[in-house]
Amino acid sequence: MQNHRKPTSPVRIGALRKHFPRVHALTAGAAACVLVLAVFIPTPEVEAKRMPLDVNLSSLDEDTLKVDRKLVAVSPQQGIPLASATVEAIQSLNLTVRNGDTLSDLFKRAKVSAGEMYQLLGSGKEAKKLARLTPGEELTFKVDSEGQLHSLELQRDRLNQVKFTRAEGNDFQHTLVQREPDSHPAYRLAQIDSSLFVAGSEAGLSDSLIMEMADVFSSDIDFALDIRKGDTFSVMFEEKFLDGEKIGNGPILAVSFTNQGRTYSAVRYIDSSGDANYYTPEGKSMRKAFIRTPLDIVRISSHFNPRRLHPVFKSRRPHNGTDYAAPRGTPVYSTGDGRVIASGYSKPNGNYVFIQHGERYVTRYLHLTKRKVKKGQRVKQRQVIGTVGSTGYATGPHLHYEFLVDGRHRNPATIVRQLPKAKSVPSSEMTRFKNQTQPLLANLENYQGPALAKLDENN
Ligand SMILES: [Zn+2]
Repeated sequence: MQNHRKPTSPVRIGALRKHFPRVHALTAGAAACVLVLAVFIPTPEVEAKRMPLDVNLSSLDEDTLKVDRKLVAVSPQQGIPLASATVEAIQSLNLTVRNGDTLSDLFKRAKVSAGEMYQLLGSGKEAKKLARLTPGEELTFKVDSEGQLHSLELQRDRLNQVKFTRAEGNDFQHTLVQREPDSHPAYRLAQIDSSLFVAGSEAGLSDSLIMEMADVFSSDIDFALDIRKGDTFSVMFEEKFLDGEKIGNGPILAVSFTNQGRTYSAVRYIDSSGDANYYTPEGKSMRKAFIRTPLDIVRISSHFNPRRLHPVFKSRRPHNGTDYAAPRGTPVYSTGDGRVIASGYSKPNGNYVFIQHGERYVTRYLHLTKRKVKKGQRVKQRQVIGTVGSTGYATGPHLHYEFLVDGRHRNPATIVRQLPKAKSVPSSEMTRFKNQTQPLLANLENYQGPALAKLDENN
């Protein structure tokens, strides 16, 4: 199933940009209390201030409009403003970015002067990003009675908000607010009748979750050849919710697959350096230290003959790697976890990346169109490090891939089988591993037992 692998996709935020609840972390705290008091105990002064504003702004038809008051000083006992002179009316206007809208269009609709906009844009890096707006995003303008921008809030998506507030000296300060969705564990069990994907989707699993599962077991089970009718699997994964509504899936936490009567189990563990990987319940890694090819197999159009005459030099130069012909721009993966020891350009190699894996192994990737990593950077297995190209001495787009063990070239096509699996959980971390993973495996077991019994009843 290697050709089905995809990087785990994060929650697709783009689809969720509509109907943003006006919940802001910023309203929390004392400021909110002050506001609430003011709304419930209006004073004549406040009422008087509100009237002309409502009239002035009634022409803004489809945009929601609300008026709230910022009270500078409030007596906490009575909830009554101490001095009416400190009452200042702030008008709040909520606009949604439409197709083709620019920031100045929105300022015009909010009736805030261009001068204010340039002042805001000039206030720093984060403010400059306001120039890039996406339809569906929401902006909340807060303007004082003199038409001066008091604050501007941008809701980029359901989870991310940035707020600019006028500070002293007419400058703007910003705060970024990121909401965390709630995560709850979910469980599914399926029995394969015709195919893995049919069984998975009938059990309510998304395709990406099925691929994730196949990926976890890919070094133990060949999902193209080994799957049989009657195989079962159960999976525990995270579901993510925001304000009670499901917004996506998190990772698989624990999974069990029974293939031809043999059961494999895996559990997700976040190690002490923060890396998440899948292990057997005993702490052995589920994956190989290296994947077989640095490209998705479906993208490879041919393997070059290594004994061919060199296309540029027309001589039989020693050829120390494997050449994979693939369309220009095809992503190139690091075949293992490691550190980039070189990322550069030379006349023969074109754009190249060299990666060191542990003490003994180095992989090399040549003729790239683009390099996506820098020297010194740590990379994960399957991380995209560049794209296929024909830079350097290359006649057409292909990837030249080398695998070195203790400084000597080895055949990448055959070496992988001889290499050990990725690192097991070190014994020093075993207690930590058990504490984190045993509850997950127990939960999956508790779910799986009754669910399997029920499956047998129905059959
Ligand atoms: Zn080559």
